[in-house]
Amino acid sequence: MTEMVRKITLSRAVRTMQDLFPVEYNFYPRSWILPEEFPLFVDEVQMMKESDPSWKPTFIVKPDGGCQGDGIYLVKDPSDVRLTGSLQNRPAVVQEYICKPLLVDKLKFDIRLYVLLKSLEPLEIYVAKDGLSRFCTEPYQEPTVKNLHQVFMHLTNYSLNIHSGNFIHSDNANTGSKRTFSSILCRLSSRGADVKKVWSDIISLVIKTIIALTPELKVYYQSDIPAGKPGPTCFQILGFDILLMKNLKPMLLEVNANPSMRIEHEQELSPGVFENVPSPVDEEVKVAVIRDTLRLVDPQKKKRKNTQSQTSEQVSETKDELLDAGPADGLEYDTSKTTEAGLPSLCLKQVFPKYAKQFNYLRLVDKVAALFIRFLGVKGTTKLGPTGFRTFIRNCKLSNSNFSMASVDILYIDITRRWNSMGIDHRESGNAILYLKILEAFLVALVAQAHPKLQKLTLMEIHLSLDFFLLSVGQRHFLQEVPYSTV
Ligand code: ADP
Repeated sequence: MTEMVRKITLSRAVRTMQDLFPVEYNFYPRSWILPEEFPLFVDEVQMMKESDPSWKPTFIVKPDGGCQGDGIYLVKDPSDVRLTGSLQNRPAVVQEYICKPLLVDKLKFDIRLYVLLKSLEPLEIYVAKDGLSRFCTEPYQEPTVKNLHQVFMHLTNYSLNIHSGNFIHSDNANTGSKRTFSSILCRLSSRGADVKKVWSDIISLVIKTIIALTPELKVYYQSDIPAGKPGPTCFQILGFDILLMKNLKPMLLEVNANPSMRIEHEQELSPGVFENVPSPVDEEVKVAVIRDTLRLVDPQKKKRKNTQSQTSEQVSETKDELLDAGPADGLEYDTSKTTEAGLPSLCLKQVFPKYAKQFNYLRLVDKVAALFIRFLGVKGTTKLGPTGFRTFIRNCKLSNSNFSMASVDILYIDITRRWNSMGIDHRESGNAILYLKILEAFLVALVAQAHPKLQKLTLMEIHLSLDFFLLSVGQRHFLQEVPYSTV
């Protein structure tokens, strides 16, 4: 998961989905991967500027693998020396900067929302019904050359803003530099905003993002815990960072695989002397997430369920019901008062498979990954050695009199050489083919196949096009064996 949510990997995974489903995936800012896509970035920006001369963009550059605002800066133009000068040093993502965020008390803020990925197969997702809002500490102004470097104005990271003289620790969830998201929603609701729509959009963003991550994640998972092997049951608490735009549209900034669960903050008693003091806002949100997670993943749950089911009806929910009220675009929180174990649900609400019907058509790439796993027989490793490659070719019935096993071996050596020369890390691959690189190539080919005509294609046609693609790479054997509906 840590690999999957790195800035470059996440951007790539979302991009694949944006290419296939541009409307559904418009919640992620346009992004380019550096250094490899720098020329593309320059060209596309140039083209967009030419087609709309009033467009005055700003871009945010984020080093891959960075966190807490580390190494992030803003530029107005691709030719900025900060950008061109650092291109070779560290891979990064450059992204369109969202210039018009929603402001509260004139300040920019973002939302940290906790999401439980309870299971990958079958997919089960829970979203916490409250999150944290982390505030900047300088009043916001739209980016200009003069204010680009003002991190307390543009970056909402707690770890940065805590060092601002304006940071306010507050015991109250409605004030200060860190507040509950529900307090923001209450405020918006009192001003007449449609907060149910905001929630519905956020839930949709979360489900779609996880759908974008699952194909590769499954390959990783399969390589660690092959099917049939009684492995550990895994779950992951993810921290989604979301920015609300002025028009209340949520935009995904990033996903954290290891979100901070601290419920204290440091206070400077005297210069250089710090003390840990409780942070009620963190405690309110995070304790509930941990408690619900443990209840949901508790292996003893089933046993207890039987003994407690008689009393479960009597347990009532303690939290306020604002977020549980009526439907918005069909996506709302589960209003049931109890978790499966019969205990009150504090905060985690199931959103998938609850809303699976509305999102299943987006799981196309997931199906490709499933075929991929089946054909490559990913087991116990992320590397495909020469023997595994031979088996793959045999499984796909690709070898024949024109394509002998000796040619397969030569092809294998050729691919590994080519990838090594493309900079795919030697230590990472150990001179073998990485499954994930094949999947990546496979997906690029799929998207390239579907993309030019995509606007005009119906879903059925996309499926057909995928089938032809599979056929064209020689997977007839599989298609004959498996009923069409499964494919
Ligand atoms: P990090 O992992 O270092 O925190 P983020 O992607 O979360 O990196 O970015 C840090 C901060 O920068 C965010 O919390 C947000 O305030 C701001 N930010 C990031 N991307 C954008 C964007 N595209 N538009 C506007 N602000 C952004």
